[in-house]
Amino acid sequence: MSNYWFECVNCGKTWDSSEWRYLCPNCSKDNSPDKPPKGVLWIRYIFPENPSQLDVDELLFHLWPIKSQDSFPILRVGNTPLYSFSYFENEKLDFQLLIKDDSQNPSYSFKDRASYLVSAFAKENNWNTIVAASTGNAGSSLAAMCAANHQKAVILLPHTSPKAKLIQVQMYGAELIKIKGNYDDAYEESLSLSKKNNWFNRNTAYNPLTIEGKKSVSYEVYDQLKGECPQMIFVPVGDGVIISGVYKGFEDLLQMGLIKEMPTIVAVQAQGSANIIRNIKNSILEFPKASTIADSIAVDVPRNFYMVVHYLKKYNGKSIAVTDKQIMEAAFNMSTAFGLFAEPASAAAFAGFIHWSKENGIPKDIKVLILHTGSGLKDVEAIGQIKNVLQ
Ligand SMILES: *Cc1c(COP(=O)(O)O)cnc(C)c1O
Repeated sequence: MSNYWFECVNCGKTWDSSEWRYLCPNCSKDNSPDKPPKGVLWIRYIFPENPSQLDVDELLFHLWPIKSQDSFPILRVGNTPLYSFSYFENEKLDFQLLIKDDSQNPSYSFKDRASYLVSAFAKENNWNTIVAASTGNAGSSLAAMCAANHQKAVILLPHTSPKAKLIQVQMYGAELIKIKGNYDDAYEESLSLSKKNNWFNRNTAYNPLTIEGKKSVSYEVYDQLKGECPQMIFVPVGDGVIISGVYKGFEDLLQMGLIKEMPTIVAVQAQGSANIIRNIKNSILEFPKASTIADSIAVDVPRNFYMVVHYLKKYNGKSIAVTDKQIMEAAFNMSTAFGLFAEPASAAAFAGFIHWSKENGIPKDIKVLILHTGSGLKDVEAIGQIKNVLQ
C-alpha cells in the first residue's frame, strides 16, 4: 500500500492513490478557461512516527510519492543558498533579512523544484514523455530535468516568451511548440496533447506534484535556520503554486510538531496582475487582463486561486500589490545592495517587502525571508528597460 492519497481543495473528497489523478472529477466538470479551475488536488500522507529523528532529506522522501532516490534527475535541485543581511542601503536593520536564492537552481528558477519531482514520478510510473504549457520558466525547467533524466519533454510556450527561456528549451533538446496565442491557449493545447498521446502533464496547479515539489523550500529553510522559522515570508505570486507549496511545507512541519507557528506569509503580486489579491474577499470574482513587465507572474486567471485563498484565510496571510516601477527599482536595489540579479517576477517579492516595511514597519528582531525565484539573465530585455522605467 502506498502512503499517500488525493484530496480536493474545493469539496474535500479524497481518493486513494491506486490510480493517478490530476483534478477532482466532480468539481472540475464545469471548468472553463475564463474562471479559476476548481478541483485542484492536494496529495496527503501518513506522517512518519518519529519525524524529529529524521533529517530533512529523509523527511521529504517520506512525504513525496516516490519509491527510489534513483528516480530523480542527477542535477542538484534546491539546497540553494540562504543569505542573511544586516544592512540595506547603508542602514543597519533591526531585524534579520534573509534571501533564499532559488535563481541558483539548474535552469535558474524556482520551477526546478516542481519539475524535479514530476520527472521522478513520471520515471517510476512509466511515462516517457512529459508535456507542459508555460510562460517560460516552467517549460525551460522541465526541459532541463527531462534532459538530465533521459526523458522526452514537449513544451508549449507563447511565441512572445522571453528569448532566453525559448532558447533554453531548445538547448535542452526538448520539442518546442510556439503558440500563436497566449499562455491560456498553450495550456488548453497541452491538455489535448497529453490526453491524445497519453503523455504525463506538468501544467502548474493541474498536476498536484507541482505543489508538492515546491514545498521542499520550506523544509530547507527550516533546516538552514536549525528549526527556527522566519516570522514573515514574502512570496511573488502569479498562479499561486509557489505560495501554496511554501504553505504546505510549513503545514507539514506544523502537523508533525516540528515547528510551533505558521509564519506570516505575504503574497506579492504586480498591480497589473493582481487577480488573487483583488478577489480574496469578493463573492463575485473578476479577472481583468494582466499587464506587467514581470512575465512570470503575469496571469489573467490564477490557476491555483482556491488553494491560495484557502491558505491565506486559514493562516491569516497578508498581501500587497506593487507597481512595475517599484519592481524595477527593487531589481536594481537587489543587484546593487546584495549582488543578486533578479528577473522582474522575482524582484516583485523584494518590492513587496520594501513597500510593506514602509507602510507597516517590520517588528524588531524578527526574521524576514524573501524568496528570490528567478535569475535576471532570464529576461534581460525587461531588465534592460530599467533606465526608462526609473526616470
Ligand atoms: C512561476 C514564477 C513565479 C510565480 O509562481 P506561481 O506559482 O505562478 O505563483 C514567481 N517568480 C518566478 C521567477 C517564476 O518563474
